[in-house]
Amino acid sequence: AKRTPGLSVQAYRNAGHQGHERLLKIEHKLGDAVLDGKIVPFFQPMVDSQTLQVAGVECLARWQDEDMGTIYPDEFIPLAEATGLIVDLGYQILDKALEVGSRLNANEGVEVYFSVNISPIQLFEEAFVGNVEQLIKHHQFPVHLLKLEVTESLFMGGDIQARETLMRLRKLGVQIALDDFGTGYAALAVLRDACLDVLKIDKSFVSAMTPGNLDQILVKQIVEMAHAMNLKVVAEGVETQEHQDFLQSIGCDYSQGYLWSRPVAEATFCGWLRDKMGA
Ligand code: C2E
Ligand code: CA
Ligand code: CA
Ligand code: CA
Repeated sequence: AKRTPGLSVQAYRNAGHQGHERLLKIEHKLGDAVLDGKIVPFFQPMVDSQTLQVAGVECLARWQDEDMGTIYPDEFIPLAEATGLIVDLGYQILDKALEVGSRLNANEGVEVYFSVNISPIQLFEEAFVGNVEQLIKHHQFPVHLLKLEVTESLFMGGDIQARETLMRLRKLGVQIALDDFGTGYAALAVLRDACLDVLKIDKSFVSAMTPGNLDQILVKQIVEMAHAMNLKVVAEGVETQEHQDFLQSIGCDYSQGYLWSRPVAEATFCGWLRDKMGA
């Protein structure tokens, strides 16, 4: 049935109005939230696609606000980038990730890698590599278990500074993962020229896979290509057992998605991990 134009315009206006107010609130509160450490990482496991053992975890920022509830990164990361707050926020997330990581890896005798998202603005900060090194030392985190996730927008414009920074990070022993692979433009040139260890296939391909469809074919080809370049592959957006079975059959390295777990708070994650590891 056709809705009356008057009604839908009104509905649109209401929605737009609410959205705008929420954005203004977020804008107004973000500075204090960063200052007060209100934004913390949640944790989502990555599972070895072959053995089905927990292999790693991605740290995803969540902002818990008294009035607004949980605020998701898509609502504040772009704003944090535009205002420069991402630099402080980024260190806070990394600091917390390494703290939790050290505790789990040292005390519980597990070995899981920790993957942290890094925005281009952080990488272009002069002191970034030195500060990362200091945080790793401070927490005595096993450096080979740290992965930093970057997106290919970092390489746009053919800037060599980004590449150099990644090379310095890898010299420390940190691994670099290319996030959201398949959604950008310069994909193949980036794969060839950047210093990468891991490729993450974007969830839009993975979660759309059905038997014999184009997404399945693409994912299979990407895994093959990545392996030919000596890269490990993470498939994100693994939502069904069918996705998982296919990824296992094509030799994908790691799986991440709602099939295994949503991103959860620290305490929940640590409990979940203890359970899985039978500790
Ligand atoms: P991303 O790095 O691509 O992270 C994956 C996103 O997919 C996460 O959304 C995660 O919750 C979601 N996801 C995980 N499994 C599934 C699944 O099976 N199905 C579907 N449909 N989605 C799944 P989230 O946590 O809302 O984060 C959104 C984006 O915000 C991230 O995308 C990342 O680009 C950015 N972000 C998050 N935390 C940080 C951070 O600490 N620093 C920076 N710079 N960016 C961050
Ligand atoms: Ca990511
Ligand atoms: Ca991603
Ligand atoms: Ca993304």
